[in-house]
Amino acid sequence: MGGNAIEIRGLTKTYPPHKGEPEKRALKGVDLDIPSGCVFGLLGPNGAGKSTLINILAGLVVKTAGKVTIWGFDQDVNPRQSRAAIGVMPQELNLDPFFTPRGALEVQAGLYGVPKSQRRSDEILRLVGLEDKAHAYARTLSGGMRRRLLLAKALVHHPAVLVLDEPTAGVDIELRRMLWDNVRRLNEEGMTIILTTHYLEEAEQMCDEIAIINHGELVARDTTGNLLGRLDAKTLVIRPDAPVTHLPQAEGIEVETRPHGELAITYQSGRTSAEQVLEAVRGAGIRISDVRTEQADLEDVFLDLTRST
Ligand code: ADP
Ligand code: MG
Repeated sequence: MGGNAIEIRGLTKTYPPHKGEPEKRALKGVDLDIPSGCVFGLLGPNGAGKSTLINILAGLVVKTAGKVTIWGFDQDVNPRQSRAAIGVMPQELNLDPFFTPRGALEVQAGLYGVPKSQRRSDEILRLVGLEDKAHAYARTLSGGMRRRLLLAKALVHHPAVLVLDEPTAGVDIELRRMLWDNVRRLNEEGMTIILTTHYLEEAEQMCDEIAIINHGELVARDTTGNLLGRLDAKTLVIRPDAPVTHLPQAEGIEVETRPHGELAITYQSGRTSAEQVLEAVRGAGIRISDVRTEQADLEDVFLDLTRST
């Protein structure tokens, strides 16, 4: 299928008041298209609404308003087909402790109506590296193994779209690598992948396109290249050895004075080199007694993007 794997229009979710908490508007009219065949990153700080959006796609949370189309099927018109097109690895480790991995996969396949002849439980267990735990009780599995099992469960009905909610939050390096290897391989085989993450670097390595949400609203949506181009701002903070009379000037740099006579010089690291910045500093007759760098982290980026909208 060309075109969009997911189309979201005016998606709104308001959680009702609960235990003295006021109602919570978790999504405020989100419009988002996710092209088929890509690895798509949904980024945003804690509480932004990522899991709410994903759980609506998964059919685990009921939306308040809006329209969701998955693989061409409107969720409200064709709930069964739209559900069959998507597999979700949830953020929470919600596993039945009395099932073995193999048992859990068989039950999941049954829920999705996969006929016995088409089940691939053993193959999927191998894929996620759980073949030797096939018959262990879930409660005896480590946290990392439980995550592998959640991924396996998301794959039993061979969905066109695989959604991973914070798959690498708090996991060790080995598991992270296993997850990314699998994501890459599945994507190469044609699966559309949607993932949420806190880690900009991870999004940079994995995703073709990125959307950023904050406070239930979409604040950015672009290819990873374009977005990171906007985000590669670096700042050199310079402490001159004498009060400055002329500020450095050069194309592509922005100079700001800081307390204690420091200068903060911001530039795009993709376009301007640190050497060019230092040249501009020396060109203004400034001798440097100390220098340090600052780099925007994801939190800064979120703040920046939300401020400018
Ligand atoms: P994220 O996954 O980006 O961290 P969530 O979608 O989990 O964000 O949460 C978005 C907002 O909705 C948060 O303010 C959160 O507290 C609230 N929220 C999430 N789930 C519920 C719920 N079941 N009941 C009430 N509020 C909720
Ligand atoms: Mg979440």
